[in-house]
Parts: sequence; structure tokens; C-alpha cells
Amino acid sequence: MKLTILGSSGSVSGPVNPASGYLVTVENSPSVLVDMGPGVLARLQERQDPCDAHVVFSHLHADHCLDFPSLMVWRRFHPTAPAKGRNLCFGPESTPEHLGRLSADGDVVVDDMSDTFAFAPWRVGQEHIVDRVSIVPFDAVHPVPAYSLRITEHTTGKVIAYSGDTGWTDNLVDAARDADLFLCEATWGAGDGDFPPDMHLSGAEAGRAARLAGAKRLVLVHIPPWGDVDATLAAARAEFDGPVEVGSPGMEIEF
Ligand SMILES: [Zn+2]
Ligand SMILES: [Zn+2]
Repeated sequence: MKLTILGSSGSVSGPVNPASGYLVTVENSPSVLVDMGPGVLARLQERQDPCDAHVVFSHLHADHCLDFPSLMVWRRFHPTAPAKGRNLCFGPESTPEHLGRLSADGDVVVDDMSDTFAFAPWRVGQEHIVDRVSIVPFDAVHPVPAYSLRITEHTTGKVIAYSGDTGWTDNLVDAARDADLFLCEATWGAGDGDFPPDMHLSGAEAGRAARLAGAKRLVLVHIPPWGDVDATLAAARAEFDGPVEVGSPGMEIEF
């Protein structure tokens, strides 16, 4: 299984880093694109046929889904390589309506995406089979319905855990239990500020979650363009003894 970071900028895209987009690839299977914020489709084009991917969403804030309507255009109207069939799409219950409005032609129209994606909503705690991986969603703490995702490759049992956007919750520790790779948001930097509750994590909280979960490797993501990367990293390292890095576009981790 390989993880490629297409974009990891927090809350908005940055000058050289798209917003959230994580590509999970396994052999002999379409890849799984986890979140699709602004700029992600461009980076996906550099890597592969954009049609050859299932798409899943941690939640539907703009920085995690705004490139999806453009993918619909690609899949339907590419002159020589449109989508040949349907791929899978998982997300919050409102995903078809929310994204259907974004790609609709009129104010009160919802574009029906069922011609090119087979959608099903997340069911917390249940295993969702996405070709050669399984994904279990956990409830996150965020102003909109949001999920942390635990992705397991069937043949090897290797696990990628992804926090999505979340405030502190023990569910995050459960999602990342013994994970081979833990992608955790660290929006609030070193955490020394007056931040709203139940929205995001600091680098220290990301490190603490990795330690409590027994994760093998921590990659910090969702640091905004205005964030202090060094302070975020130091705060996480103060909590977690294992390897910690800051995610960046183009980073590939294979295991
Ligand atoms: Zn976000
Ligand atoms: Zn969010």
C-alpha cells in the first residue's frame, strides 16, 4: 500500500500546497482518493488517470471537497478518456446533495452523480469495502458531520489512519490504534492560543493521540499557510517518541 500526499494545506490551499487530498494506492486496483480540496485534481492528473479512483470524504467543508465537481466534468466529458464505468464514493449522508448542488447548472437543481459514482453514506464503526481496502469511519468532533478514517489493506493488514478535521476525542485514538501510518491534523500549531473548542487539534494533541494509539509513524497535516510549521512539529515531538514529519505535496510513503 502506498500513500501519496497530493495536498495537505489546512483550511485553505497554499501557494505550493493544495488543500486536503490523499491518494491511497494498492496493486491491481483503482486507487482511493481521500478528500478532494482545491488544487487536488491538478496533482492527481500528474499521477494517474483521474477516472481510475474511488473517492471518499472525511467531511464536506470546502477545503476537503471543492475539486469534486471538476472531477465530474473530467469523468463525463473528457473527449478521449472519460470514465468507463462507476467508481465508489463514500462520505457523510448529505454528500450527493451537497456536491450535486456544487456541480449543478441552476440554483435549485441537484446534479445526479449516480451515472458515474455509486454513493453510500458512512456508517460509524462499520467496515466499508473499497476494492482491496476496508475503511472504518469513526465520529470526529467538528462543526459539521465529520469522520476519522481507518484504512486497512486486505492482503497485508497494513493500516493508514487519517484524522480528518477533528477536535480532541478518544475516538481518534481508537481510529489510529497501532496504525502503521497516522495522518493527523495539527491546525492549531503549538496550541498556545485562544482557539474555539471542538474543531481542530494542536501539534501537541496530534502527538498525544499518536502516543496513546501506539501509532508507528505520525505525519502532521492540515497546517494552514499561516501556521508555524516548526513550532507544530516541536509540540508533536514533545508528546510522541516515534517518527514525526510534516506532510507535504508529493510525499510518498510505501509500506
Ligand atoms: Zn479542513
Ligand atoms: Zn473542516
